[in-house]
Amino acid sequence: MYLIVFDCDGTLADSQDNIMIGFTAAYRSVGLPVPSRDEVLSTVGLTLHVAFEHLLGRNDPELIGNMIKGYQQVIWEMRAKGREYDPLYEGALEALRELSARDDVLLGIATGKHSRGMKHLIGLHELEGVFTTMQTADVAPSKPNPGMIFQAMSETGAHLENTIMIGDTTFDMQMAANAGVKSVGVTWGYHSAEDVKTAGATYVIDQFHELIPVLSEHFNWNKEVA
Ligand SMILES: [Mg+2]
Repeated sequence: MYLIVFDCDGTLADSQDNIMIGFTAAYRSVGLPVPSRDEVLSTVGLTLHVAFEHLLGRNDPELIGNMIKGYQQVIWEMRAKGREYDPLYEGALEALRELSARDDVLLGIATGKHSRGMKHLIGLHELEGVFTTMQTADVAPSKPNPGMIFQAMSETGAHLENTIMIGDTTFDMQMAANAGVKSVGVTWGYHSAEDVKTAGATYVIDQFHELIPVLSEHFNWNKEVA
């Protein structure tokens, strides 16, 4: 059994517009100036609390708690009005369908998003039943702690050598390395090819259609057919 664990924002879904709306609301709700788009997007992948801690340069639980409320309020309002729509990257749906059709593959999610937001995205793109294990901010520590990968493996019974992490940030690559699993860094998200490579990516790909060939090579899937 192979376990392919996907990060969500920046890897499967292009969520940057909604993330900026959320961060802008968070900073405005506490009367602080909003950081630049680049600064905000560099923290995507961390749980919200850790992301705010990074951006503020300090851990102020009360302030951060209020910022998270500001973030969630605007996102929930948009969701209620049907305005929260994060498109999937080109080729993502096809790759997920092809992988989930294999009976020796299980798919998982490891995201800094909350379960509620993740389920909303799954519903939007009709991905119900595609992911066997879902590690979110509600049930696991923030990346780069390896907890999400360990929990995904234990929920599916997958072994280290048959597990791989797909993500767009250094946090994903470090989490994989901390867990002792291989990783694929993707360059269409929020961190550069150089950054994910430096953070320990086993493979780096620039387009979604390169993913299955890389996995086939890594896991020797082609040999089974030949
Ligand atoms: Mg990401």
